[in-house]
Amino acid sequence: MADVVTLDQLVSWLGRFSAAATEQRQYLTDLDSAIGDADHGSNMDRGMAAAIAALEATPPTTIADLGKSVGMTLVSNVGGASGPLYGTNFLRFGTTAGAVDSLDAAGLGAALRAGVDGIVARGKAEPGDKTMLDALLPALDAYDAAVASGASLADAVSTAASAAEAGRDATEPLVARKGRASYLGERSAGHIDPGSASSALMLRTLADELAA
Ligand code: ADP
Ligand code: MG
Repeated sequence: MADVVTLDQLVSWLGRFSAAATEQRQYLTDLDSAIGDADHGSNMDRGMAAAIAALEATPPTTIADLGKSVGMTLVSNVGGASGPLYGTNFLRFGTTAGAVDSLDAAGLGAALRAGVDGIVARGKAEPGDKTMLDALLPALDAYDAAVASGASLADAVSTAASAAEAGRDATEPLVARKGRASYLGERSAGHIDPGSASSALMLRTLADELAA
């Protein structure tokens, strides 16, 4: 069997991510109440629920369609920083994946990287600024290294999810330099960044889907 991720698996992944956002809504909100405005849980839960509803209303026939549908839905349904940032991520993911119904390990890596490059372009954050990028960038590097060393696609995603979780935990001592948490200055230290937590969930749920 070819080592690929299919469109159906990606749709199912987003269902898992949506369910995780519902389940972890309070946790994400608690993180955001410490250093933000206590809406990250509701933003992610509402946004992903709307994304799943859109996918059910008009099932995508290509991965490009999937990315476009999810990205546009997040941009238009989620206020705050995270909607446009996650939206851009999925829009670029889809554009780079293209009109295909599966991706091999290199193709998935390129699509994920393009999505995260979109977050960088839109939000202008750098590593260490205490944002979702502190989970996503190490995750992509771990993914690429795993693929280069011959790991299966599922194992590479699992490695990426673990790196994202480590990156999430490593945001705790950081002082925020981007987004709402940066208004707190030094007082933002001592709390995990909410967006890094939702990003780790996004990758862990993909790993779970591929392990299923
Ligand atoms: P808001 O901050 O507008 O209330 P959310 O609470 O939904 O939006 O999302 C906050 C998260 O967005 C932060 O925890 C951080 O990870 C992420 N974020 C904020 N600004 C940026 C940025 N410029 N680049 C990358 N991520 C960012
Ligand atoms: Mg917030």
